[in-house]
Amino acid sequence: MARKYLIETFGCQMNVHDSERMAGLLEQAGFEATAHATEADVVVINTCSVRERAEEKLYTRLGELRQLAAEQGHDPIVAVAGCVAQQEGETLLRRSPGVADVIIGTQAIRRLPMLVERAATTRRPLIDLALYDDVAFPLGVTRRGDPVKAYVTIIEGCNEFCSFCVVPYTRGHERMRPKADILAEVREAAETGHREVQLLGQIVNHYAAPDDPGCDFTGLLEAIHEIAGIDRIRFASPHPRHVTPRFLAAMARLPKICRHLHLPVQSGSTPVLRAMRRRYTRESYLELVGTIRAMLPDVALSTDMIVGFPGETDADFDDTLTLTRTVGYHSMFSFKYSARPNTLADQRLDDDVPEDEKTRRIVALQALQREMQSALNARLVGQEVDVLVDAASRRRDTELSGRTSTNVVVNLPGPPAWIGQVVRTRVERAGPHSVWGTKVSV
Ligand code: SF4
Repeated sequence: MARKYLIETFGCQMNVHDSERMAGLLEQAGFEATAHATEADVVVINTCSVRERAEEKLYTRLGELRQLAAEQGHDPIVAVAGCVAQQEGETLLRRSPGVADVIIGTQAIRRLPMLVERAATTRRPLIDLALYDDVAFPLGVTRRGDPVKAYVTIIEGCNEFCSFCVVPYTRGHERMRPKADILAEVREAAETGHREVQLLGQIVNHYAAPDDPGCDFTGLLEAIHEIAGIDRIRFASPHPRHVTPRFLAAMARLPKICRHLHLPVQSGSTPVLRAMRRRYTRESYLELVGTIRAMLPDVALSTDMIVGFPGETDADFDDTLTLTRTVGYHSMFSFKYSARPNTLADQRLDDDVPEDEKTRRIVALQALQREMQSALNARLVGQEVDVLVDAASRRRDTELSGRTSTNVVVNLPGPPAWIGQVVRTRVERAGPHSVWGTKVSV
């Protein structure tokens, strides 16, 4: 009987995609997927350290696995992967003794099957945190979890060193994938029925093809746009300071590029942005938003925001609220600041905004965002939109969900056979996080 694996993923799309890659590697080595830790021979926990809470989740989960071993005698090989593994290394073994068998860094995932086999034989912890610069990944191995959308990495790592961010320390310096590899992977995704491709990188719009001098992110988008079978192209995330008129013109010209830009701002206050080392100001960001609105009036914007960054005053926070109101984001990921190990903010700045004040600010920001999102979604009521159906609702078997090109989630009744199709839908009601509609009859 084939041995079984379970992968549990915390964190961002990049982690979700790394898990798809690790699943493919384990299947290539003869393992089969299971949804239950109690029958898994290997449990991989793919971790995120961008927020403190994700780290706590890892230690809680390791504690549960230790209990499983004690109570039921089931003791799978446990591998910890991802950013926490890279960051904590041996500390993980000390904080959770006797649980983790493999600790594998973000650049070593191709070595997972080999490390799992060795750990199964020796039952001694193995650690591989080496920085392998090679960004190649074999074609056809990734075990994609979504039948409609395919993640494709274009850049790994980041050189930006924003003062709050742990990514340059956990994922290493910026490395570009060859354009030929990316195009081959997009073609393969199209051949396996995927209609949408989501390009991943810490700063996607910093892309420069190592195998095609002169080909930047816009050139890559143009090449992907030519691939038959792919109807929608998304990407996350561009950095505001690398958004160029040439890129915006391509977005306006190429219909497969979704009408959605995730444009992380992090704060609405210029002094806070300076302390964050974001390399743009409130004014230049708003100017960029104005240019985007002029060139791409139908594009929806979303963002990331941090409140309670060291030194953030009431006036700085008010700037965040007014910027949020001015831009009118369709969605926002917002967080209370927490110091991340090794970062400049952790080493040089005093985490001086009291926790209850951070909470007050996040509550106020999220209330404003909910109000604005509700108003933007309400504008869709009565309109017809094209929805790429990507999932059956977990609540009812007659309800489907999908997204508009602007990334609004639309729920609609229909058969599972519509998954993977673009369905013209009339929006009938709206909430803050999604809208509801029915298929337009032709
Ligand atoms: Fe982190 Fe800044 Fe790089 Fe984004 S651009 S990954 S926030 S360092």
